[in-house]
Amino acid sequence: MQNTPLSTIDTLQKSFKPIEESETTRLIYELEVHQIELEMQNEELLQTQNQVKKEAEKLAAYARKYATLYDFAPSGYCTLSRAGDIIELNLSAAKMLGKDRGRLINNRLALYVSPETQPRYHLFLESIFTDKAKHTCEIILSVNERSPMHVLLAGTVDETEERCFINVIDITERKQAKETLLLQNKISEQHTAELILANRELTLKSKENEKLAAALNASNKKLITAMQLSDQAVQKYFTLYNIAPCAYFTLSRHSKIIELNLRGAQLLGRQKLTLKGKLFSAFITVESRSVFDHFVEQIFKTNLNQTCELSLTMEGRPLMFVHLEGSLTDNGEHCFLTMLDISARKEKESKIRQLSQAIEQSPVSIIITDTNGSIEYVNSKFGEDTGYSFDEVKGKNITVLNSGHTTGEEYEALWQALKDGSEWHGEFHNRKKNGQFYWESAAFSCIQNSAGETTHYLAITEDITYRKHTEARLVKYAKELKNVNSDLENFAFIASHDLQEPLRMVNSFLNLLEKRLDNQLDETTRQYIHFALDGAARMKILIRDLLQYSRVGTNKEEFSAVDLNAILNHLQDVLRQTIESNAAVIKVQAMPVIIANNTLVRELMLNLLTNALKYRGEEPPEIEVGCREEENRFVLFVKDNGIGISAEYFDKIFIIFQRLHARSRYPGTGIGLAICRRIAELHKGKIWVKSEEGKGSTFFVSFPKSAE
Ligand code: ADP
Repeated sequence: MQNTPLSTIDTLQKSFKPIEESETTRLIYELEVHQIELEMQNEELLQTQNQVKKEAEKLAAYARKYATLYDFAPSGYCTLSRAGDIIELNLSAAKMLGKDRGRLINNRLALYVSPETQPRYHLFLESIFTDKAKHTCEIILSVNERSPMHVLLAGTVDETEERCFINVIDITERKQAKETLLLQNKISEQHTAELILANRELTLKSKENEKLAAALNASNKKLITAMQLSDQAVQKYFTLYNIAPCAYFTLSRHSKIIELNLRGAQLLGRQKLTLKGKLFSAFITVESRSVFDHFVEQIFKTNLNQTCELSLTMEGRPLMFVHLEGSLTDNGEHCFLTMLDISARKEKESKIRQLSQAIEQSPVSIIITDTNGSIEYVNSKFGEDTGYSFDEVKGKNITVLNSGHTTGEEYEALWQALKDGSEWHGEFHNRKKNGQFYWESAAFSCIQNSAGETTHYLAITEDITYRKHTEARLVKYAKELKNVNSDLENFAFIASHDLQEPLRMVNSFLNLLEKRLDNQLDETTRQYIHFALDGAARMKILIRDLLQYSRVGTNKEEFSAVDLNAILNHLQDVLRQTIESNAAVIKVQAMPVIIANNTLVRELMLNLLTNALKYRGEEPPEIEVGCREEENRFVLFVKDNGIGISAEYFDKIFIIFQRLHARSRYPGTGIGLAICRRIAELHKGKIWVKSEEGKGSTFFVSFPKSAE
């Protein structure tokens, strides 16, 4: 209740009316309530008062702060009246105007504006009040002796519209800076102009320079191209040097290898690097050492190109022949060698030497003529055969040897064959230098060049005069032999035929004598007569066989198809008794039909079978007969398991009368196999045996398939 405002209580008292007791109580009560309410309101009022006070203090603080800020703001502030009088200004503005703030209040701001910026200022001030909008303008403040200050004014009317609030900013420095800038700009413009001028000159010069540069560039390019070309050339040279098919070496005076190319290393069979510094002479054979030393010596001594041929030896490689060409290097310190492998050429040369020696020493005459037959070469044998030396026949035609015995057709055939590029073989009856006639066998052929054209003819001739005479003699002898043979055959036939009769008589009379004198004969005489009879019996067989042998050649029976199966069947019948008595087994394979003389083939087979049964061993004979067919002939065979024949007698047993055993053991005349051979030969076939002693024998007889 203490601070209740008096006006409020007055108001409350004025509203009271006289009231009753009870009413009074109630009123007192209400009054108390009001009083409480009033006290409460008072309380609130006090609080509000405090708050207002605080706010006022706060505001005062703000005002102070603002005043301070206002005063010490970096730009000037001033409030002007419509007439332009200064109503208020901060310290910064006062400083700008160069006077105390107090002395400036109510002064016209225009007093401090420089005359030249006066109109602008007035217009600015007027515009602010007229437009009621914000305006700016730049003016110059000129205060006493102080240097003029450029300021920027920004002004606007306040809420009263009777005053305006101006912000003054010192822009002198900015202005000066701007002016400086302008000045600098001018200077720089001047410079630029100068620069442009200089530039023009430079451009001109630069154009000249460009021309010069272009020329330089072109010559540079040419230089680069030339350098590249020379580089390429050097590269090429190195490549060529290295891969050249010819070997190159640079040697010192003492044959030390200074440089070499790949081919050089290849020929010496080593790596290029390992050869540098090595002695070239180390690869030269002992035989060629002196040649090489002389060669190098001459190069250094004469300074002239030298050549030589020598042989090199490399481990594990065949001997190599090389051709060396050497010269001094430009500085005269080394020698440069070119080396060619001439082993192949040397080998060819040696082969040619061998061949020419072979031709020269050939046992036959060799003649080389041109295509007209003019002699270009003859070997020494030609001289021996004809008596002409090479010089005597050189350039002469080969017809120099003609004897007139060879016909024109024969020569024609010879030249025609050669023209056709073929060979010609024939015989000539020619004449030697000494006029003697001689026979020669000749082979003519063509010698062609690499294009296949005939350039020469080659004749290889052999003097066959001796052979010709021998042949003629042989023909004569053969004829004589044939006659003798036929006489002999006749003789054998006649003799054996005619001998049979006296032999029969000897035999008959000996038998008669033995019968007649039976009682008078002593034992010895009886034995003599027996020997004589035995001899006569053996002679009979011998004569029979001989007769048979001589008849083989005279058999005129025609060749015909002979079935060997039929012959063998027949012979087994003929030999049945012998087969059975020997308990022999004969196996006959299927046999072919051959073209032959039936009687002779039967006789041949009979002889072979008889022998197979006769020359038996301990075991009963086992005989196999067969025939194998070959391309041009049939080969029939008779195989037995008999006593066999030692290899040394394989030929002998086919000769007439040749026997290997005593007659007492194996009877016989030794004519059977000779007959077999004659029969085989008459059929243009052969007979032979394969055997081993004690292991049986196999006799083979071949018959040509055709009868001719
Ligand atoms: P030969 O039988 O009348 O004595 P060959 O001319 O038939 O006359 O035979 C000559 C010789 O060949 C015989 O004496 C004999 O020694 C030997 N020979 C022939 N055939 C056979 C055979 N199959 N086995 C062993 N030896 C044989």
